[in-house]
Amino acid sequence: MKVTEHIKRAKKTLFSIEILPPLKGKSIQSIFDGIDPLMEFKPSFVDVTYHREEYIYKKREGGYLEKVSTRKRPGTVGICAAIINRYKVDAVPHIICGGFSREETENALIDLHFLGIDNVLALRGDSIKSEPAFVPEPNGHKYASDLVKQIVKMNKGQYLEEDLETVAPTSFCIGVAGYPEKHFEAANMTSDLKYLKQKVAAGAEFIVTQMFFDNAKYFEFVKKCRDMDINVPIIPGLKILTTKNQSNVLPKTFKIDIPHELHDQVEKCKTDSEAREAGIEWCIQQSKELIKFGVPCLHFYTMGTSEATRRVASKVF
Ligand code: FAD
Repeated sequence: MKVTEHIKRAKKTLFSIEILPPLKGKSIQSIFDGIDPLMEFKPSFVDVTYHREEYIYKKREGGYLEKVSTRKRPGTVGICAAIINRYKVDAVPHIICGGFSREETENALIDLHFLGIDNVLALRGDSIKSEPAFVPEPNGHKYASDLVKQIVKMNKGQYLEEDLETVAPTSFCIGVAGYPEKHFEAANMTSDLKYLKQKVAAGAEFIVTQMFFDNAKYFEFVKKCRDMDINVPIIPGLKILTTKNQSNVLPKTFKIDIPHELHDQVEKCKTDSEAREAGIEWCIQQSKELIKFGVPCLHFYTMGTSEATRRVASKVF
């Protein structure tokens, strides 16, 4: 079912999660072990992230370094199929511009359509580590809004090959990313929102936010979106802080702030397990306030561990 349909039918705030494919070579059992304990909270959908290739240098005989392309976390599509099959829950694959030509995107979407997948989260993706800025693939998309446009065309039965005789339109419900604390490349919040509005105008039907730890930032973001006539559901993305180190690493990685109250609390913790308790308690309070505000869904970034999400969900659902 489409995410928008889940939201329309819901009588209370929905619960959903995002998971990462396991590292290459690891078993899919780790995915099931992460989802199993969360099934009692009836997730409406499970997002599965997409990870593009990276370049690593391998030392070869004679001491020279060979640049090798590798994908550390392949398997997004297979995991989506496995989730649907095992849990009968909607899976939402992330699909990115980076590393994909338009043809490759079309073929990937055909696979997803044949699997009966109703939703995709359309993203640009980050630059690869060896590149200072995002470089689109030759004949690929530069911005997520262009990817949204391609998916919308396929929903209308317009494939890249114009002379196909009969075409089966896809019917993807398209989500996009939003940034309560601004995307790090955007010159300012207003320009970022202008481009977010372009994604919605192109056909995106829901927004999932980057993680945030200060609800005031989300409330302000929603207000600014509504003031700019961005009227689709805005699903808050929540990450539970689970180690002391995360209070410094998350801002660097995701370009977000940790509120000083939370940072102070974590700094006082002597161990990771104390920091984790503080993180869980913070997220419980955040979730309760968001539910009171009337958010359509609480979307948890599990990042490979589900115990903290289970603890929060058991207090708020
Ligand atoms: P866009 O919407 O294309 O925006 C990128 C930047 O360009 C912004 O600064 C925007 O303001 C600007 N911009 C947009 N349109 C224009 C335009 N027409 N002209 C000029 N500037 C413009 N990454 C992955 O690789 N895999 C994942 O699975 C993944 N999942 C994610 C899930 C969520 C919920 C979020 C919030 C992020 C996720 N990301 C993922 C990270 C994401 O790919 C990066 O944040 C990326 O840098 C931006 O993606 P976007 O779709 O927001 O890009």
